[in-house]
Amino acid sequence: MTRERLSRRPSATTTMSRLLCRADVFSALKAFCRSYGVAGIRGSSGPPPCPQKVKIVEVGPRDGLQNEKALVPTQVKIELINRLARAGHCAVEVTSFVSPKWVPQMADHLEVVQGIQRLTGVSYPVLTPNLKGFQAAFQAGCKEVAIFGAASESFSQKNINCSIAESLRRFEGVVEAAKRVGVKVRGYVSCVCGCPYEGPISPRTVAEVARTMYQMGCYEISLGDTIGIGTPGSVRLMLEEVLKVLPADVLAIHCHDTYGQALPNILTALQMGVSVVDASVAGLGGCPYARGASGNVATEDVVYMLHGLHIETGLDLDKLIEAGNYICDHLNRQNMSKVSQAKAKR
Ligand SMILES: [Zn+2]
Repeated sequence: MTRERLSRRPSATTTMSRLLCRADVFSALKAFCRSYGVAGIRGSSGPPPCPQKVKIVEVGPRDGLQNEKALVPTQVKIELINRLARAGHCAVEVTSFVSPKWVPQMADHLEVVQGIQRLTGVSYPVLTPNLKGFQAAFQAGCKEVAIFGAASESFSQKNINCSIAESLRRFEGVVEAAKRVGVKVRGYVSCVCGCPYEGPISPRTVAEVARTMYQMGCYEISLGDTIGIGTPGSVRLMLEEVLKVLPADVLAIHCHDTYGQALPNILTALQMGVSVVDASVAGLGGCPYARGASGNVATEDVVYMLHGLHIETGLDLDKLIEAGNYICDHLNRQNMSKVSQAKAKR
């Protein structure tokens, strides 16, 4: 060993101070984990990570079935929604008040909202992209509606033929009308991690759209990775920007599982304080913009993960699995939930 190296050998004092330093780093890390609720440090001493309770918004009957090729009989939709509510869901998005010309799968929206059994404490939001849709939904007795804006300019142009700013102006009418009659409005922001037409989306744009929708009067903003391209890395960057303008308790995360990243993406959001998660039973739906891609994250898989983290959901996993199998039998399609698949093999 050279003299130089010898002289670099740490003395007992420096070793001790380094150890102390490490202790400081460890306690700082623990404090960080406490404030961000990082699961990895949960252990003997730390308080529970992530939120203790998570609200799941079931989007299968709308977001899911809307993207399924097969037209589902109204009675089957009603039975599915009733089963989902009985499984313990407190929010089930049931249909969309759009023109059947655009979305034939949702043409029976009126029959669906009038046919379901409404349980107390359960919200049954419907999508109302315009004023006409909102008025029809309100007349049908809907107490909560949802609107959606895109964080991508090209997506907005190609899908609703107008700029992001114009689309937001159109929604103002819906939100105003809803506020007047005491109907709650939930806002979706799509393409928060990427767009099928223009690729990556700036987190700042996402934050701007989310803030505008919140200021307009939406009580909750659901951030949607519509094409399921996000990773925990991009979700974190996106959320960091959104959290600069909105508090975590008005946000929801909406992940598609196209690249198999939905669960880690959701976990990342939970660790950053988000406590509302959108999910679709049996992973219903597909992604119309990426051929062969899978749809929304399966509710069963999210619930399995959350229960594994000792996070309360109010859901009965077995009943949820039954609801998923029920609709898959009718659609003659495979249940995309890994948890359902695993349980079926037992
Ligand atoms: Zn979706």
